[in-house]
Amino acid sequence: MKKKIVIANWKLNGNKNFVKEFIHNINSENQKFFKNTKVIIAPPIIYIKYMSKKIHNKKISFASQNVDYNYQGAFTGEISPNMINEIGAKYIILGHSERRKNHFENNLLIAKKFFSVKKNKLIPILCIGETQEEKEKNLTKNIIQKQIDEIFLHCGNNAFHNTFIAYEPIWSIGTGENASPDDVNKIMKFIKNYIIKKSLYKKINLNLQYGGSVSPNNIKRIIEKKYIDGVLVGSGSLQYKNFLKIIQKCNV
Ligand code: PEP
Repeated sequence: MKKKIVIANWKLNGNKNFVKEFIHNINSENQKFFKNTKVIIAPPIIYIKYMSKKIHNKKISFASQNVDYNYQGAFTGEISPNMINEIGAKYIILGHSERRKNHFENNLLIAKKFFSVKKNKLIPILCIGETQEEKEKNLTKNIIQKQIDEIFLHCGNNAFHNTFIAYEPIWSIGTGENASPDDVNKIMKFIKNYIIKKSLYKKINLNLQYGGSVSPNNIKRIIEKKYIDGVLVGSGSLQYKNFLKIIQKCNV
C-alpha cells in the first residue's frame, strides 16, 4: 500500500524553544506510529538545518516554504534552491495562497521557481486552489487548469513527474471549514487525469495532497479517498499532540 504523506506547514510560527520541544517529542515517540506514513515538515527556514541534524526519525524529511528562482547574484534577501539543498531540505512548497496574496506571486513567477527547483533536483510541492468567489462561480476547474498550464508551458510536458500538488481551496485554509472529501476526491481525479493527458509519460509519479483545515476529527474521512495521497496541514501541525493524532490516523 502506498504510504500516506503528511506535510506540516508551520508558516511564520515557532521559536527556539518550540523547535527544541518538537524535536524532543518526536525523538521520544515510538517510530511504529509512523509505519505507513511519510512526514515532511516545513518550519521557518532557519530551523531546518538544526532540526534535520537532531531528529532521528528517518520517516521525517524537510521542506522550505519558499525559494527564489535565481541561483546567485544581486538578489537581496533571497535564498536559492541549491542553498536549500545544502541545509538538508528535499522539498519546496511553491505558490502557497498566502504568498500569492501577500507577496503578489503569480503563475509565471511560480512556474519559474518550479523550473529552478526541479533543475536542482529538489521536489516541488505546488499549491493550487480557488477562492470562495471562484468556487461560487463554478470556476474551480478553470482556475486549477490555469495554474497547472503555466507550469507545463514553462517546464515542459514532463514537468509533473516526481512532484507534489497540494490542492488547497483558499476558503478552507485556516477557517476550520474543510472541503467535502467527496468533492476533493473528484477534483484530485480531475487534476491527475488532466496532468496525465498532457504529460509525455503516461505513468507519472505525482502525489496529490489536500490542504485546508485538516484536523484529527476530519483526517480519516479525507485520507480514505482514492485520489488523495496525503494532506498538507497548517495550524493543525503546531500542537504536537494534535499533529501526532493526524499522523496516527493516516496509518491505516
Ligand atoms: C495551509 O496553510 O496550507 C493550510 C492548509 O492551513 P490550515 O491547515 O491551517 O488550514
